[in-house]
Amino acid sequence: MPLPVLEQAERELVSLPGVGMSMLEVSHRSKIFEDVLARAQADIRTLAGIPSNYKVLFLQGGASLQFTMVPMNLLTAGATADYLVTGVWASKAADEARKIGKVHVAATTKAEHFTRLPRAEEIALTPGAAYVHMTSNNTIYGTEWKTPPDVGDLPLVSDTSSDMFSRPIDVSRHALIYAGAQKNMGPAGVTVVIIRDDLLARSAPSLPSMLSYAVHAENGSMYNTPPVFAIYLLGLVVRWLLNGGGLESIAVANERKASKLYAEIDRTGFYRGTAQKDSRSLMNITFRLPSEELEKQFVKEAEKDGMDGLKGHRSVGGIRASIYNAFPEEGVDALTSFMREFERRNG
Ligand code: PMP
Repeated sequence: MPLPVLEQAERELVSLPGVGMSMLEVSHRSKIFEDVLARAQADIRTLAGIPSNYKVLFLQGGASLQFTMVPMNLLTAGATADYLVTGVWASKAADEARKIGKVHVAATTKAEHFTRLPRAEEIALTPGAAYVHMTSNNTIYGTEWKTPPDVGDLPLVSDTSSDMFSRPIDVSRHALIYAGAQKNMGPAGVTVVIIRDDLLARSAPSLPSMLSYAVHAENGSMYNTPPVFAIYLLGLVVRWLLNGGGLESIAVANERKASKLYAEIDRTGFYRGTAQKDSRSLMNITFRLPSEELEKQFVKEAEKDGMDGLKGHRSVGGIRASIYNAFPEEGVDALTSFMREFERRNG
């Protein structure tokens, strides 16, 4: 979370200016929350340049519930959904879809341990597919699509949980975009779904209401009690991004931060980036050291220096530096200095 956002939330926690109550206790049907919700939606529209034929929904259940809601709503009887399987989260999305209908793996880089993204010529789409599902940033492997793949007229659905609002996004190339808020947009507890209006017609009336995009859209994300405080904080983060110059500005900062780390990784042969260069993520920088012992030592010594959370995901090992929007450039500088010093002592 950006520090100015946390500071504002702290100032306003007990009593919202002009309201005299905490955002933690106001009714979700109150005018104050209606305004917070409307402003957050409007600001997201401005920030991401969302065309008027898309709805912005605030849902719950994390990105993981979207693995289920996407096929439940969009994978109509007899149709096939195409999945680009580029990591664990993408695999999970495909597995959930298989419980609902027919899934075709249009491309996967599993044989290469997900160290890169599929090339255009490796993607075999199903003509007339219900949709094509992709994962824009593969959080565990540190790979990220520079631009979405060309899927022609097929509806493109993107899980952007770990790189939403880290760079400009061409919403019009997508039919549906979803992201859990907790990496770049706010706290855990709210999921943003951006859905093109024509897709809402696919939500069958027989769907359970809480699982229907159409129901949530008709009710303006207020079918049930939304996560009020999470939406308030998300609104503050979006305003922080707008005030900082929007997605172009944050992208410049993110590119600068990532390139410093990749430059350090590539400087000698001591560190080894795990993602192939053309697939490298700006959010999750993954690398290995010459041995697992050295990796353990690296994590331990970094922690002593105040740098937490560098251990790679348990499924892959190695080191992962997650440098989301709010992570300061000074933190990257501290890490690169530490890396250089660690190499000097152990290289
Ligand atoms: N997709 C991606 C790309 C993720 O990184 C994550 C979580 N790290 C998820 C989905 C799952 O998100 P959630 O925990 O919000 O269900």
